Amino acid sequence: MASNGSPCSAHPQLPIAEYGIEKPHGRPLWLLAELTYKCPLQCPYCSNPLDFADFGSELTTQQWLDVFAQGRELGAVQLGFSGGEPLVRQDLIELIGGAHEMGYYTNLITSGVGLNERKMAEFHKAGLDHIQVSFQASDESVNNMLAGSKKAFAQKLKMAREVKAQGYPMVLNFVTHRHNIDRIDRIIELCVELEADYVELATCQYYGWAFENVEQLLPTRAQLERAEAVTNEYRGKLAAEGNPIKLIFVTPDYYEERPKGCMNGWGQVFLTVTPDGKALPCHSARMLPIEFPNVAETSLEEIWSKSPGFNYFRGDDWMKEPCRSCDEKDKDFGGCHCQAYMMTGDMHNADPVCGKSQHHGLIVDARDRAEQVINNSEDFLFRNERNSRIIAKG
Ligand code: SF4
Ligand code: SF4
Repeated sequence: MASNGSPCSAHPQLPIAEYGIEKPHGRPLWLLAELTYKCPLQCPYCSNPLDFADFGSELTTQQWLDVFAQGRELGAVQLGFSGGEPLVRQDLIELIGGAHEMGYYTNLITSGVGLNERKMAEFHKAGLDHIQVSFQASDESVNNMLAGSKKAFAQKLKMAREVKAQGYPMVLNFVTHRHNIDRIDRIIELCVELEADYVELATCQYYGWAFENVEQLLPTRAQLERAEAVTNEYRGKLAAEGNPIKLIFVTPDYYEERPKGCMNGWGQVFLTVTPDGKALPCHSARMLPIEFPNVAETSLEEIWSKSPGFNYFRGDDWMKEPCRSCDEKDKDFGGCHCQAYMMTGDMHNADPVCGKSQHHGLIVDARDRAEQVINNSEDFLFRNERNSRIIAKG
């Protein structure tokens, strides 16, 4: 386990703004409902919290429906059902149906494990608009090794075919890393064969379990450049053939010199609710030493507009140098606070991805180590309840 992956106690939970004070903000257009942390798979890059096994009971069906209704009143239009594996929830049809009636565009984000033709048809009837199926790799053995299931790959293939057969638009998501990125040509060919509408070739982002496994996952610069070149070749070739498939290539922060504008700005358009009801401005923010409110106790309107947690990084009065006087601060808002916290121990620092950060050397060191690491899947810390409980115990 990387030594700098644990939350640091140097910064107590001190809200920067008092409760009730509003700061300029947008509307939570995109609501992500993390229905459960339960999942039959164990991806070593999962973005769920390391200590997920230690959290309390899940929201009830009615509590979720209340959250969805409040979200619509605030202006939310897209609703993602995520997890863990959302199929584990026995009330998923009810949740889909309720959200559909409220007018959401709904998206099921799933590993495909636990899905079948009947459930898919019921979801369609209940009003589900979109399904995203994630794969671990295009090779069965690598996929199943990463997922921790001998049957996962065959099941995913079957379900991806069924998604199209039932007339859903389909996104296929491949998290790419040093163990699968050299097969990006095969990944794209598989997606073409499965008639995906969109393909996310999402280079692993290093949060949660991925941060613990960064040395085993981070590709080399040469791997990444080759993968991007191959993707561009396929884009040209497929467009020439009239294939409408869209290939989305996401570069890892670790090979950039400037951070991304995280979530389009903290508390501006995105709202996540965790299985136990914590409302977060991004799905990783639970790790930060900020007290976030719970939807079981506080209305979404109050949370979004006035809670200290959502106001914490709104605006720029929290910034330290070099961000404070930087002429790019309106583009990236100082980058990712979770990354700053994980790597430097202070969430107020500039994201170390930024070349102007005094901590940028940490990113350069990680890149250098990627050149030296030998692929060895035995060194993975897999995301499962056992490991999570060990981490939670400290
Ligand atoms: S990333 Fe893997 S382990 Fe995590 S929720 Fe998704 S399928 Fe489950
Ligand atoms: S110094 Fe801060 S605001 Fe400026 S580019 Fe870097 S992260 Fe962004």
